[in-house]
Amino acid sequence: MNTKFIIYNTLTRKKEIFKPLNPPLVGLYVCGPTVYGDPHLGHARPAITFDLLFRYLSHLGYKVRYVRNITDVGHLEHDADDGEDKVAKKARLEQLEPMEVVQFYMNHYHDKMRQLNVLPPTIEPLASGHIIEQQQMVSRLLENGYAYESNGSVYFDIDKYGRNYKYGKLSGRNTEDLLQSSRDLEKQSDKRNPLDFALWKKAEPEHIMHWPSPWSDGFPGWHLECSVMSRKYLGKQFDIHGGGMDLLFPHHECEIAQTVADQGKESVRYWMHNNMITINGQKMGKSLGNSIMLEEFFTGNHKLLDKAYSPMTIRFFILQAHYRSPLDFSNEALLATEKGLDRLKEGIKNLNKIIPSEKSTINPDKIENNFYEAMNDDLNSPVAISYLFDGIREINSVIAGHDSLTASDTEKLKKIYRSFVYDVLGLHEESQTSDNKELLKNLIDLLLKMRMEARNNKDFKTSDRIRNELEKFGVEIHDTKDGFEWKI
Ligand code: ZN
Repeated sequence: MNTKFIIYNTLTRKKEIFKPLNPPLVGLYVCGPTVYGDPHLGHARPAITFDLLFRYLSHLGYKVRYVRNITDVGHLEHDADDGEDKVAKKARLEQLEPMEVVQFYMNHYHDKMRQLNVLPPTIEPLASGHIIEQQQMVSRLLENGYAYESNGSVYFDIDKYGRNYKYGKLSGRNTEDLLQSSRDLEKQSDKRNPLDFALWKKAEPEHIMHWPSPWSDGFPGWHLECSVMSRKYLGKQFDIHGGGMDLLFPHHECEIAQTVADQGKESVRYWMHNNMITINGQKMGKSLGNSIMLEEFFTGNHKLLDKAYSPMTIRFFILQAHYRSPLDFSNEALLATEKGLDRLKEGIKNLNKIIPSEKSTINPDKIENNFYEAMNDDLNSPVAISYLFDGIREINSVIAGHDSLTASDTEKLKKIYRSFVYDVLGLHEESQTSDNKELLKNLIDLLLKMRMEARNNKDFKTSDRIRNELEKFGVEIHDTKDGFEWKI
């Protein structure tokens, strides 16, 4: 087993040699999606980052217990403690049972993850399936004095915690600064301190997701589920906790506080956070109209997209940046990625065309060692990929007759590329589905333009024929005042 794997630990702000508590077992907990909407680009980065980690640790010989939760209750509209539950709101508006909303979007999420070749976690617990465990933790925190009840809700006591431990060490914030910027200060609140966060919330009468408890009919606070589920499946101490940088505060900070208050010590050895995504240099957001759904990338159906991009192009694009760096999406960057991916695949195919020589002028071990060195350095996938491209240039040089490879070195290289590209980076060969969709769209557009021309020339026979034939294939056509629209 490779023991030189180094992780940047957000908590210590240092790179540390990875030493699991119980090798070869590795406990990995990642904050998963909230399921009240279609998966967008923002979902892809954490999923792919921690999929890479999961794949690489497994590749190194570790047995990874990978827990990624589904937040289906307690994620509120305005902030962690305020507003309507997002799943409940969707259910109320669409007259669905909340679990129908959860199932519907969870299926969509899984679907998109499969397309991105993100492996499923080994355990995928739902917050709503762990209400009893969450209530037990609330009771323990009330018993040991780190929580208090107020009007049927239960809050975590930041002042009490601050007397014995330090709140804010993951995000590097201190409570004075936080208090100054807190917008809760002005509001009427059940909290003693505006920084206190909800462990249990009393449900308003219109709230459709609630459970009985000693304090009120209500629901757990959002932060609680991750402390409870990581402990249930990975134990009081485990190796890695991951998530997006946007979760660092308050979510992960609150997780640490309630866990430490509960068990007297931290549970997580290494905290890992992926950086965020921007689109054309702008932060992504619904109000900015640039929150692109993954499905829209795969079909090209979005005003900001010049064309469709395949799931593997999106995956490769994300892998070509280090997970701790920001990443900007643009059509130009995605086109370059698409070309790069083709070059990589072409080079791997070229390995089958090599005619073996007596001796090698290329050293497969060098490519292999370089790849490991980069990946061991805090999952530096962009550098690891650049070494794979160096190798591809050499392979192409063998094909061109400038370099040579023996039969055994050729086999070795095939094995290296198969294992790194397919297993570790998770870039599988994809059918040309998105290209096909693009082609289909262009062909139908072309036929309908020809139909318009025929009509303008009063050639109604041709124009009717195109329309009738297309309708037979299931293409529904609507004439508009300046052209046409169609759908299949
Ligand atoms: Zn979480």
